[in-house]
Amino acid sequence: MQIRNSFRNNLLLYYSAIFVVFTSLILAYLYKREKEYRVSTLNNELYNITLVVNNFIRSNSIFYRGNYEITDSLVKLLPQSHLRITIIDSSGTILYDSAFRDWKNMENHSDRPEIKASLNAEYGTIIRKSETTGQPYYYFSVNYGKYFIRAAVIYDINVVNFLKAKKFFLLIVFISFAAIWAVLFFITSRLSESITKLKDFTLKIGNNEEFNFNTKFPKNEIGTIGEEIMGIYKNLLRTKNDLINEKEKLFNHLNALDEGIAFFSSEKIKIFNNDHFVKLMNMISGDLQIFSSGFFDIPEFLPVKEFLGKHSDVEINPSDLPKMEFQLTKDGRFFRVQCVIFYDKSFEIILSDITKLGKSKVIKQQMTSNISHELKTPVSSVKGYIETLLYDPDIEPKKQKYFLQKALAQADRLTGLINDISLLNRIEEAGSSFQSEKVKVKKVIREVCDNFKSAIEARNMKVEINIKDDISVKGNKSLMLSIFQNLLENAINYAGDDTTIMILVYNEDKKFYHFSFSDDGVGIPQEHINRVFERFYRVDSGRSRKSGGTGLGLAIVKNAILLHKGDIVVRNKAGGGTEFLFSLPKN
Ligand code: ADP
Repeated sequence: MQIRNSFRNNLLLYYSAIFVVFTSLILAYLYKREKEYRVSTLNNELYNITLVVNNFIRSNSIFYRGNYEITDSLVKLLPQSHLRITIIDSSGTILYDSAFRDWKNMENHSDRPEIKASLNAEYGTIIRKSETTGQPYYYFSVNYGKYFIRAAVIYDINVVNFLKAKKFFLLIVFISFAAIWAVLFFITSRLSESITKLKDFTLKIGNNEEFNFNTKFPKNEIGTIGEEIMGIYKNLLRTKNDLINEKEKLFNHLNALDEGIAFFSSEKIKIFNNDHFVKLMNMISGDLQIFSSGFFDIPEFLPVKEFLGKHSDVEINPSDLPKMEFQLTKDGRFFRVQCVIFYDKSFEIILSDITKLGKSKVIKQQMTSNISHELKTPVSSVKGYIETLLYDPDIEPKKQKYFLQKALAQADRLTGLINDISLLNRIEEAGSSFQSEKVKVKKVIREVCDNFKSAIEARNMKVEINIKDDISVKGNKSLMLSIFQNLLENAINYAGDDTTIMILVYNEDKKFYHFSFSDDGVGIPQEHINRVFERFYRVDSGRSRKSGGTGLGLAIVKNAILLHKGDIVVRNKAGGGTEFLFSLPKN
């Protein structure tokens, strides 16, 4: 309201001021014109009067006779009111004055400006207050040689009189002023509404206050501008909110990453970092630098500092951003550090814990050396038997046969080893190549038991299967066979004579059957139990080899179960013996 008034009041005030100035100028001009006109009219009138008076003097020979009083009769005839005629001789002595009977005692008029002025000009004039009457008079004097005739009338051209005379003009001026004022008032009230709303809008936006975007602006230019600005602001606000949301999403995403990520300005001032960044930074430095700003003080990250230094004065091609990457190890963990410099010289640093990757590399290396070690033993014994047979022809046939049987057993071991390695590899590298189908678990177990029937009997072992016939899992049949075969084989090989193997489903949930495969044999020494699933890990390698074990059986079991999204753990039973608990998906 206040704003609207101030705008309108200002406008009206300016308008009034301009109007007053303009009117005053017109009035001043008119006043000046009026004065000039009046003076020229007076000059004319008074000149004519002096002519008439002079004619009167001459025709009545008054100058010679000195009977100036008769001039009164003429003055009375003249139409001007308050007319004063004075006749002054060339020395300034008053010869006649229509206004003062006692003119003989009047002071000498030779120094009167109008008299002086008329000495050498057509006439002389002055406006002056009469010393005698105190009123302003217009004095007009003409030099007629022997005397001056001075006519004077009351000079009534003053501002008050002038304005009084211009009453009508002033009335018109006032009416037009009021009319224009009213029109202006009406126009500005609509205009000021738009301005008020616009100002309201900008103030609220500026102060971050709520603004009703449904506000309607009046239909005028400013209203249209207001609507436009509001629309643009609305779009801006929407874009800003979208950006905030996107930023939030991005930051959430960055925070959820396993990698540590941080953005820095070109002055190496941190813009953003996720929690992982600080965590990994601390792991690498071994220090507790809580702030990412300490990054550049950590000696491990010196290559990043050097990389940034190298590019500090180089112009960056946006389509080929400079990148660097290196790996480092700390306390048995592997880390990767990456840095990318952006076009504006800001940069990002990514820290990743690649221990798993690093470890699998180490595991692969170990695996390769294990494989070659495992292969060496059978290959060298086969070679030994063959060499003996080849270079010692005197060996008796019975012994020859024995050596050949031994060589064959080692060859079988080699085949088993190679089969296990390739099966493990296939599970790990090409798990999807194993087709899933509905597999009846009890049928699989029966098949495996049949295969090992003689071995079971030889050790006087019993197998108890507590699984319903219709229980079926979704899996690859040959892997299911491998799982149960390896577990059964282990139980036969390690549990001991006169033991019982128990296989049962101890639980089921929505997705899985939970199996228990146990024996009541010797069990696994506690210090080894956590490692039995590792490749080539044997508790007693001599015994394992003797029994034809490769050390890969449980690794195959675990990987096959993991491939089916199940899980496996091993424990020693309270009453003795080993128990494997594992899950397989329901069909
Ligand atoms: P291996 O080829 O030596 O049998 P596995 O990976 O199948 O290799 O088993 C790893 C080790 O776990 C075996 O060497 C053995 O010492 C132990 N083990 C496995 N099953 C049993 C069991 N049922 N009872 C006792 N020890 C077992």
